[in-house]
Amino acid sequence: MKVSEIYGFIDSFAPFCTQEPWENSGVLFGCPDNEADRILVCLDITQNAVKYAAEMRCGLIVSHHPLIFHPLKQIPYNSAITALIKNDICVISAHTNLDKAPGGVNDTLCELLGMDYEKADASFGGGFLNVGTLKNCKTGTDLANHLHQKLHGAVRFNSNNSIGKIAVCAGAGGEFYADAKAAGCNTLITGDADHHDFLDAAEAGVALFAAGHYETEIPIVYKLAASLERQFLKDNNDRQSLFADNEPANAAIIVYPYTNSINTITEAF
Ligand SMILES: [Zn+2]
Repeated sequence: MKVSEIYGFIDSFAPFCTQEPWENSGVLFGCPDNEADRILVCLDITQNAVKYAAEMRCGLIVSHHPLIFHPLKQIPYNSAITALIKNDICVISAHTNLDKAPGGVNDTLCELLGMDYEKADASFGGGFLNVGTLKNCKTGTDLANHLHQKLHGAVRFNSNNSIGKIAVCAGAGGEFYADAKAAGCNTLITGDADHHDFLDAAEAGVALFAAGHYETEIPIVYKLAASLERQFLKDNNDRQSLFADNEPANAAIIVYPYTNSINTITEAF
């Protein structure tokens, strides 16, 4: 399978043309004609992620956060990019196009939390907000406990007021408290928020919950890997995913798109 086919599949549900103008999703490294019979799917392309991909003989890394975001002036000899070049590993990053896609990062988080939700009008938060309700969370403490139970990370929040309509933005969305309020919500769940977001949101009457950047976005990594498996594995008997939560590569998952048998794969290692 070619890298371009995998790009085309991701593009079919999270069109790359919908990415924000400031950002950098797409094929960021390597040749689209390269074959990729093994894929590493991860949140961030760290040096360890590349090392792991090379060890596992992956031809492609699919990440959520773009490998290259700011213009580069040099490529250090020990960087992830250098390791990608040495190992001829291609990269596809799907960032804001995947955030906003139906079934994408934000929807996946809402589903995991068990919310009744819909996409907020794009005039609130530029398409990055969902709005909805959570039946069993009456107070801030209820919601914090629920977030901790579902996402397993530390939760910071600024209010124990009663929870009404909730806005959700996975990742770094603390700044969207005003958009949440404008969309009729008194609560915002996000991953990252800074000190001033908490203070300003409280002043604006919005209960702000930061449940972790990693914790709010890692669910899409698993879902994306499962989608790739469903699309490209020819035979369920050949299915083999390695869930590697302990890897510093941020819970990378290997997908074997070809019809390799488990025995063959094991022998290859
Ligand atoms: Zn993020």
